[in-house]
Amino acid sequence: MAEPQHKDEKSFRGIPVSTGVCRGKILVLGRARPTIARRQVADGDLAEEVNRLEKALVQTRHQILDVQRKVSEGMGAQEGGIFEAHLLVLEDRTLLDEVVRVIQQQKVNAEHAFHTVAERYAAMLSVIEDEYLRERASDMRDVTMRVLNNLLGVEEDADLRHLKEPCIIISHDLSPSNTAQLDKRHVLGFATDVGSRTSHTAIMARSLRIPAVVGLKDASAQLVNGQQVLLDGHNGLLIVNPTDQTLFEYGQLILRQATLQQRLRDLLHEPAITLDGHRVLVHANIEQAADAEQVKANGAEGVGLFRTEYLFLNRDRLPGEEQQYQAYRDAAVALKPLMVVIRTLDLGGDKFLAHMQMPTELNPFLGWRAIRISLQERDIFRAQLRAILRASAEGNLRMMYPMISGLDELKQANALLEEYKEELRQEKVPFDEKLEVGAMIETPSAAIVADSLAKRVSFFSIGTNDLIQYSLAVDRMNEKIAHLYEPTHPAIVRLIKVTVEAAHNHKVRVSVCGEMAGDPVLAPLLLGLGVDELSAAPSLVPPLKFLIRRLKLTEARELADFALDCESASDIQARCQEHARQIAPGLFEDK
Ligand code: PEP
Ligand code: MG
Repeated sequence: MAEPQHKDEKSFRGIPVSTGVCRGKILVLGRARPTIARRQVADGDLAEEVNRLEKALVQTRHQILDVQRKVSEGMGAQEGGIFEAHLLVLEDRTLLDEVVRVIQQQKVNAEHAFHTVAERYAAMLSVIEDEYLRERASDMRDVTMRVLNNLLGVEEDADLRHLKEPCIIISHDLSPSNTAQLDKRHVLGFATDVGSRTSHTAIMARSLRIPAVVGLKDASAQLVNGQQVLLDGHNGLLIVNPTDQTLFEYGQLILRQATLQQRLRDLLHEPAITLDGHRVLVHANIEQAADAEQVKANGAEGVGLFRTEYLFLNRDRLPGEEQQYQAYRDAAVALKPLMVVIRTLDLGGDKFLAHMQMPTELNPFLGWRAIRISLQERDIFRAQLRAILRASAEGNLRMMYPMISGLDELKQANALLEEYKEELRQEKVPFDEKLEVGAMIETPSAAIVADSLAKRVSFFSIGTNDLIQYSLAVDRMNEKIAHLYEPTHPAIVRLIKVTVEAAHNHKVRVSVCGEMAGDPVLAPLLLGLGVDELSAAPSLVPPLKFLIRRLKLTEARELADFALDCESASDIQARCQEHARQIAPGLFEDK
């Protein structure tokens, strides 16, 4: 909803998900791609369907030539040459003849025929060992998108990997895989109509350290390319045509932020010890081995969550054991002796692979996701567990399973782990025999049976992002019900308490790695409930340490006692807010 302000200035309010302020021109991406429907075509209309296909092919050819020319001019002939392969796809007679045959024999629309045939070709190419041929699968998919866009009359999406100048991306939505492609040199920030704080896109933005605002409702439909905006990732504002006064105010905010950053830098390598002498380990969440730099630069004491699915996104095929081993080993070696907790694959929900046949589900977050996929797709699980085990010989690795919903899953996963350990022993491949294994607690059922789970693991890591959505039945991605997504809901507070008690009865440590752990307002509540460790985006580690060093554990426990007695989420939130602002006012300076 637009909020009229000064003349010409217009601002949109959304949900702040990644801090920072940026200013620049916007690039508005097209709306989500419609699904490719299959339509029956009457005999008399088949010739017209083939005609449509041919027109789309010609149009695509012109577009590719145009991009090729621009890239050659801007970056050199060699880079422009990349598009030769795209043009070859359009000249592949075997492919095109087959598409025409499908249109005529099955009497279906051109989009459906093209999509089906091209996808089959791409899938075949993507499993070939030869790297050159595998690359062709990605060319095939790029070209297929262009042809389909032309057939559907949809505007082409900008290629986020090859942006020419710095810009702020505005989009209805941005998938985690699109976000993973963003080139930090050119993307100053992004804003989307939908989304929430705990969507994986928001999590990616924090790890990329670019300002981001989501849940802007219909902003993308109201904005046009090239408009000048200011994006405020602290307060969740997108301001179009900011006036001089606004720019001045933001200049002040940026200065205050710079002062705070300096104070945070000063204690980067100091431990997080409360005023009453309690040491809290503050870890970081990462998505790839290269993030190890950020872990160290932000003074994190290890990695509490390595989300391995990003190794699987934006590729044409699954990464094999060897490739995963390299990635896990790189992280382990880079951070040694700090610990790194690798989470096994958590696909499904909002993370899908274009090249893997994943079912279209009515409720993907309640469906084929995470450990459920791993336990069924044994080859994938085996490759990953072997890779983790092998890498464990080279650093301080730990491992955990996502989305455990009951004891059977944990037992099955542990049994497979033992089987793969035995394989490695037979092969005389070294691994850490004492590798610690943990379970994520992110379903209410896991929290309730935490007592049984605790007997079979070394640690728990509470994934509050999911625990909240599953306990409160509130989709973590849906901005329409974002107000119901309440981390301080009494049910959540009590589930965390139950989990901690069960864990501590069995001498099992508890970490929290959901976004709640990185929120300085809520971290004291977690510590007061008995949580031992926190893990958050690397950039959130310094503010957490800053806060913990001003906290008394006795006060945090009082806060937790209040929350456990309280019946209202907003009262608990208000009390947490008041307490955090009181002990660390500097952290909460907004505009
Ligand atoms: C969580 O659910 O809190 C969590 C850390 O896992 P993810 O956000 O990757 O689902
Ligand atoms: Mg989760």
